[in-house]
Formats: sequence, structure tokens, C-alpha cells
Amino acid sequence: MNQDQLSLYAAIAQSGIAITFNKKTGDPCPCATSGDGGRVGYSAEWHRENPDADHCNGSLIINASVSVINCKTLLYNADQIKTDELKAMFGELQPDDIVINVLLNSSDWSEIDMSGISEQDDTFTYNGNTYVLRQYKDLQVSDSFCQVGLLKRIA
Ligand SMILES: [Zn+2]
Repeated sequence: MNQDQLSLYAAIAQSGIAITFNKKTGDPCPCATSGDGGRVGYSAEWHRENPDADHCNGSLIINASVSVINCKTLLYNADQIKTDELKAMFGELQPDDIVINVLLNSSDWSEIDMSGISEQDDTFTYNGNTYVLRQYKDLQVSDSFCQVGLLKRIA
């Protein structure tokens, strides 16, 4: 991590916006690896053949629970997005959209890698509303990268 990144992280820790990340966790469903040739994916067939097993309903996770992670980030509402760079990243934004830049876990200030966030399973809570991560991009900042994510409101 270089000096620019360190000062960015420090600024977010001090004056970033609080957002809650609800991460679905659990055990991998046996159906996921039942396919031919070690293919990983949902198998309706496996669940038909094993009717007594827990059903993952396509999520590939059983015994699911949700970890609530308090985070801080740089957060922008759609109407605050002025730079052409961000506009070009995500295209036309809806009024409910928010954009987050660098997601830090408030308990240890580690960065949460957006590539591990599932649009189907994981949600964010901000201002009493619920969002999902629709897409993210790596944004170059001097000689390193930071992640910028587009959150869509679903409730
Ligand atoms: Zn399954």
C-alpha cells in the first residue's frame, strides 16, 4: 500500500460515511459439485435425487446466516456524481443509485474486496434502505487502484 492509499484510508476511517454490509455466509451446498467433470454450479437434479437434504434454492449455500459488518466508505448519491470519469464507468444512473468508493471494515479498517460480494446474496443498508452491489470497477489512483461500486436500491 502506498502513501496515497494510506491517506485515503485514513480519511475514510475519520470522516467516511457509515454503511452496513450484510454478508450471507454458510456452508457450500453438496449440489454445487455434483455435476459432470467437477463442474461447479447449481444442480436441480441433485436436489431431486436427495429430497431430504437441505435445499439451497440455487444460492449454493446451506445453513445460511447473515454477518452484519459495519463499514465506512466514500459515498455519493447519484446527483452528486459530477465527474465524467464516474459517469463513464457506470453509464446513466438512476436517482436512487449510490456509488461507494473503497469499502472499509470499521472493526479493523481492512478493505473489503468487492469482487467477493454477491448481487444475489449480499446486501447493504444505508439510511434505512436496502441496496445490492450491481457492479464495481477498479479505479486507478496514481500508481495503485481503488474499487468503486454501484449500489442499486431494492427496498
Ligand atoms: Zn444446492
